[in-house]
Amino acid sequence: MSKVFQATHVGKVRHNNEDSLIVIEPETFVVADGMGGASAGEVASSMLVETVKNFLTNSPAPWNEITLAQAITRANEEIWNLSQQNEDYRGMGTTATILYLDGDRACFAHVGDSRLYLLRNGILEQITEDHSYVETLVRRGEITEAQARVHPMKNVLTQAVGAMSEVQIDTANFSAQPDDVFLLCTDGLTNMVDDETIARILQTSPNPAEDLINAALDNGGKDNVSVIVVGVD
Ligand code: CA
Repeated sequence: MSKVFQATHVGKVRHNNEDSLIVIEPETFVVADGMGGASAGEVASSMLVETVKNFLTNSPAPWNEITLAQAITRANEEIWNLSQQNEDYRGMGTTATILYLDGDRACFAHVGDSRLYLLRNGILEQITEDHSYVETLVRRGEITEAQARVHPMKNVLTQAVGAMSEVQIDTANFSAQPDDVFLLCTDGLTNMVDDETIARILQTSPNPAEDLINAALDNGGKDNVSVIVVGVD
């Protein structure tokens, strides 16, 4: 079994926590960052984690990245349908980043700008790509990573679960090794804390989830922040 640490915090500025996270047996980890007016963001992200949990626990294991994507597709239908039925929920959506570990294999399914990182041999690598407008500009070479970090449209997503009738989901599978450390997090961490600090905390802290949250709060805590850290045996 892996060693798992998880934490979420409303941050220092916002009044609601629109992030949701869940650990599903066996070895499945989900973070979601909801968006939408009033309480709609909380509704979207909590529907995401609940629907994914129900879908997976009713699917025969072992799962793979296709199963994870099917779970997100189901959540997309449910969130979209509710948003069409209820005026208060119009336009709501959520990110979804799911990691599943099965022995020496790992796979993920991903939508939005929450992130999956892998720390291996002391090197922190971002595994997922952000589905954001600024990331599109970076990939086209129109702006730099540094400009993306302070861009006025940095919060605009190009894909979100439940925001449209269909959603495009990134998936992949790869090998997991002993001592790999996976981090799933919402942008409330990555907008507040640089990669170097994240890597240092993952390598040295006995309570990495708590210490990552504290680092985000120390740097301003402008957004909700959620993290799941998974250390592979
Ligand atoms: Ca956020």
